[in-house]
Parts: sequence; C-alpha cells; structure tokens
Amino acid sequence: MPKFQIIFLFYLVIFLSLKPVLNIPGKLRYILGSYTNPPQNLYGAIEAGGTKMVCAVLDPYGNIVFEEKIPTTTPDETVGKMLKFFSPYKLSSLGIGTFGPVDLNPKSPTYGAILNTPKLAWKGFNYLNAFKSLNCPIGIDTDVNASCLGETTFGASKGLSNVIYITIGTGIGVGVISEGKLVHGMMHPEGGHILLKKSEDDPGECICPYHNSCFEGLASGPSLLKRYGKPGNELVDNEKVWELEGEYIAQALVNYIMILQPQKIILGGGVMHQDLLFPIIRRKVAEKINNYLLSKELENLDEYIVPCSLDDRQGILGSFKIGVDKYEEEMAKAEKKN
Ligand SMILES: [Zn+2]
Repeated sequence: MPKFQIIFLFYLVIFLSLKPVLNIPGKLRYILGSYTNPPQNLYGAIEAGGTKMVCAVLDPYGNIVFEEKIPTTTPDETVGKMLKFFSPYKLSSLGIGTFGPVDLNPKSPTYGAILNTPKLAWKGFNYLNAFKSLNCPIGIDTDVNASCLGETTFGASKGLSNVIYITIGTGIGVGVISEGKLVHGMMHPEGGHILLKKSEDDPGECICPYHNSCFEGLASGPSLLKRYGKPGNELVDNEKVWELEGEYIAQALVNYIMILQPQKIILGGGVMHQDLLFPIIRRKVAEKINNYLLSKELENLDEYIVPCSLDDRQGILGSFKIGVDKYEEEMAKAEKKN
C-alpha cells in the first residue's frame, strides 16, 4: 500500500476514535456523524420573542445542530419560514419558550395561544395548531420559565430545585422553579409587576400603564430611558442611576426570597449587562434581609445572586428541555396504555 494511503488511514482511525469526545461545532459534527452514526433523535426548539424567533434543531444532549433566527413579523409569514426550517427533520418533540401572556392550562380550549399582547397580530395565535404538521409532541412555556429551566438543566443553577430567573430589559419577566417544577399557578408568574416602594430619590415616575409603582414600571430599560433621557449603556458613570436601579431590583429580590426561598437567583437581560449592578444589588439585599434569614446560601451572596451563564443560550436550551420533558411525558403515557 502506498505510504500516503497508510498515513491517511492512520489519521482517519485516530479521528474516528476521538470524534465522540472532540468538541466539533454542531453542523460539522452532524455531517461527520451522519457517515458513521446517523443521529436518530433530533429535537426542535423555539425561543419566541417579540422581535425574533430563534429556531434550533438539537441532538438528545442539547447540542445545537442547526439554528436559524427568523424576524417576528406577521404570524403567517413568520410561521411559514419556521415550518420551512423544521420540516426537513423528523423531530421527536418541539419545545417552545414564548413571550406572553400565553395560555398554559392544558384543560383550557385556548391552550397554547398567546393572550392579551400589545403585538395585536399575534393575539389569539395558537402555537399548537401552527406546528401540528410537524407531527410530534409540543411542549410550551413562557420565555422566562424556559430560561430558568435552561440554567437549571445546563447552567448556573444546575441540579437545584428552587431557582428564580429574572430578565430585566425592555420588560421584566420572572421564571420560577419551585420544588423541581416550573411554576404556573392560574396562568404563569408575572413577577415584573409586583408592587415596590417608590424611592424618595427617584426623579421619575413608574411607566407601567396598569400600576403606580411596579417593578417593570420603575426598573425596566424603557423606564431608565424615560427617567434620564438616555439608555442605560450611556449612563454607566452616573452612580446615582445604579444605586436607584439596584434599590428597586433588591426590593423585588427580597420579596421573591421571602416567599419562594430560592437556592439561587439568576439575573439576565439588557439592563443586567451593567456588571456594576451586581455588587450594589447584593449589598442592598443583605441590608434589607437584615440577618432575618440565616442560610448557607445567603452567607455567600456572590454565589447566590449571579448573572446568566450560557452565553444567551439559556432560552433556547430551556425550550429544548421543555420539548424533551413533553416527549418523555407522552412516552410514559403510551407505555401505561400498553
Ligand atoms: Zn406593572
């Protein structure tokens, strides 16, 4: 055998034996893998946002194999593009984490539909009907619950059973896992609209059209813009801005801590890109709890109140997990029947 063929074979054997442990990017791994070990189980995930829909196809371990970002325009146009993305694959399930409010009660006739949204074209839009043609189990939850689940499956809160995920950006949303389960209650938590005490140092007003003094109305990105005439990233050097912002976030966190006793709190969203907020929030949370609660978690607030950890992948990975959980639920049901 010529020498170059022996060398080629040698490297091929080495490569194939190392392939499972190499960190090869998703698409390449899929192409290479399909020659030796065709992927059997693929899962779909959608992180549905007001401006874009992140669509992904993942392997059973949560590695993203294919991904596409589709602008959120009208339901017809957007869903058409999403179906085009997903239909080449035989999906085991589809998991969706969506902006809301959304009907998550499986017994309701409008289960899976977007409810009272300011994005009027999407009001009444039903995800379960829209993706029926993919012919797989569909799991759905809020975008923030998805992010909370993503962090708890793969990230900062991995393995914990009581976790709160808060996004502070254009709006404020709160996802909750309590005793290992995503919390829904009547609908789903609306933790952005808990009522807070307005600070005497606040030169502005609460901008929520529904409430005089709620978390979102006082501390979201748009409320910063309204109060100071500039977005947060142009106010980095203004200490007073972040003391006030930290005050509102700490008030909210202490309320969540007292009721839900989370083992970790994860903060994400555009406003939280200001790293300087974290020490302010931790200091104010400690002051407000005032040693009333004594727990090993609260002894180390640097580990207790943390930024999101998955490079903005927490939403899509959580959506994937929502789909996997739905798939397992359906499998268990089918097994019981047989
Ligand atoms: Zn409000």
